[in-house]
Amino acid sequence: MQKKKKMALSTQIFIALVLAIIAGVLLTGNPAFATGYIKPFGTIFLNLIKWIVCPLVFFSIMAGVVSMRDIKKVGSIGGVTVVYYMCTTAFAVAIGLLFANLFKGFFPVLSVSELSYEPSATTVNFMETLVNIFPSNFVKPFAEANMLQIIVAALIIGFALILLSEDNDVDFAFVNVGNDICMKAMEMILKLSPVGVFCLLCPVVAENGPAVLGSLAKVLLVAYLCYVVHAVLVYSLTVRTLGGLSPIAFFKGMLPAMMMAFSSASSVGTLPLNLECSQNLGADKEVASFVLPLGATINMDGTAIYQGVCAVFIASCFGIQMTFSQMLTIVLTATLASIGTAGVPGAGMVMLAMVLQSVGLPVEGIALVAGVDRIFDMGRTVVNITGDASCAIVVSRMQNRKAGK
Ligand code: ASP
Repeated sequence: MQKKKKMALSTQIFIALVLAIIAGVLLTGNPAFATGYIKPFGTIFLNLIKWIVCPLVFFSIMAGVVSMRDIKKVGSIGGVTVVYYMCTTAFAVAIGLLFANLFKGFFPVLSVSELSYEPSATTVNFMETLVNIFPSNFVKPFAEANMLQIIVAALIIGFALILLSEDNDVDFAFVNVGNDICMKAMEMILKLSPVGVFCLLCPVVAENGPAVLGSLAKVLLVAYLCYVVHAVLVYSLTVRTLGGLSPIAFFKGMLPAMMMAFSSASSVGTLPLNLECSQNLGADKEVASFVLPLGATINMDGTAIYQGVCAVFIASCFGIQMTFSQMLTIVLTATLASIGTAGVPGAGMVMLAMVLQSVGLPVEGIALVAGVDRIFDMGRTVVNITGDASCAIVVSRMQNRKAGK
């Protein structure tokens, strides 16, 4: 008997995505059902991902570091990665600001007396942020899912292992076994992603459907336009010229991860699928397992675009004209804010408070966009993870060239 051919996961996710939109539209009159009975299953799926992602990032970065067996090599890959991430992010904010200014005429000037958003983090002290990157307790970063601290811990232990191995015969097997176990567990969880995607997206559509049709549709459209322009322009260019890969093949190969990012609005949650897609596209395992977890934490091009667009939108709603130097400040703060933004749903909106504050724009303006933040978030997360993958392809190619492959 011929074995029944299994549908590819990406096809399953796509079908789930379409079904979620249809079901969401049908349920717009009764979002309570969607949030009460469908969303919890999406939450279970996200919880499982959150549970595995901390050990996964820890082992993945450690495995990436020890596989290079050379601190200088880690330094050079890390250096190129950080420069790539910073440049593309700065470019992303600039695109956001440019397009939002072009379309500013379509944004309304609102009567803004009824705004009541209380941002949770408005002041960000640079030195404090710096101190907070370093863990003071071995288990706390895991308990709090503090990704930057987990990355620092993984780097230190990875370097320690490399140094130890210079004088002794150290067996790295436990790192690779730990990494393999986490990957396998993640693979099992990912099999549930079509169900997860459906249960996460359907309530969002059911809740926000009618709101999207309001005046916010314009600012959402501008943001999505920027997302597309940035992805098509910047990533096509970098993967083609620096990565030696056709942009069409790149985006096609990235589709499963992009759909997952769209539905989950979490770069960290998409990490395992992103690792798989990038490696299928030719990224080296050692590079991808170092560059991608780092990117899921510090590289947020989509979030940066969103911050640029929202800053202009909020300014124009309040009837404020931004100066050129204010825009430059936004480029700088949004780039830095993206480093501090966790790859989880809604994090970018909290960092928007810091960006607005840096140029003296009214932080209460966030209330204008908060209602549809999830819709901004889905798109910006897609851009965030695509940027990470493009970096993995580019850095892999550079390393291969260096090695004369
Ligand atoms: N949800 C985004 C991400 O995971 C972060 C953000 O809120 O902008 O990449």
